[in-house]
Amino acid sequence: MKLILFGPPGAGKGTQANKIEDNYDTAHISTGDMLRSAVKNGTELGRLAKSYMDKGELVPDGVVIGIIKDRISESDAKKGFMLDGFPRTVPQAEALSEMLNSQGESIDAVISIEVDDREIITRILERQKIEGRQDDTEDVVRNRLDVYRNQTEPLKSYYGDEGVLYEVDGMGTVDEVFERIDSVLAGLKA
Ligand code: AMP
Repeated sequence: MKLILFGPPGAGKGTQANKIEDNYDTAHISTGDMLRSAVKNGTELGRLAKSYMDKGELVPDGVVIGIIKDRISESDAKKGFMLDGFPRTVPQAEALSEMLNSQGESIDAVISIEVDDREIITRILERQKIEGRQDDTEDVVRNRLDVYRNQTEPLKSYYGDEGVLYEVDGMGTVDEVFERIDSVLAGLKA
């Protein structure tokens, strides 16, 4: 299965991706994790990415598209993959479609985790206390939410038009949300 986990920052995409990975044979690919590791390793990519990430802005499309292109051609992604945090703009989605179409493939499902803004801020400030992410401060989170609403949310209609969008209620416990996702995925397999 080729999946996209979609939703605002703090919706629980990473947490749900880990649970999906435990239950389904699919590679978890997170652009945020890849970029954070580049920042940690002090690579050229990391230095470039950091200047955007610290402000809650998106890293340029060309950069993330290149990263994804390399990553999905690795052998573990052949069994299926789950993208977490990509695509985030229409050009990224178009580039992904092109990459897959050229192999005769396509995305099976986009799982959109729906959470309201107040809950997002609460969850992210909680995560800040635990993980200490630099982009989890209140000002940066508000900017990330604006970026999400303006640049990323329009992708829902892109994938809605393709007939692969599944909206899942992201309120409640991690297990409750996972059960909802699991029933969508079970429906796809059937
Ligand atoms: P995330 O962990 O997915 O919330 O990503 C953290 C940050 O990494 C984002 O706020 C962006 O600065 C950057 N980033 C991650 N994925 C992308 C993407 N697909 N396009 C542009 N920037 C991204």
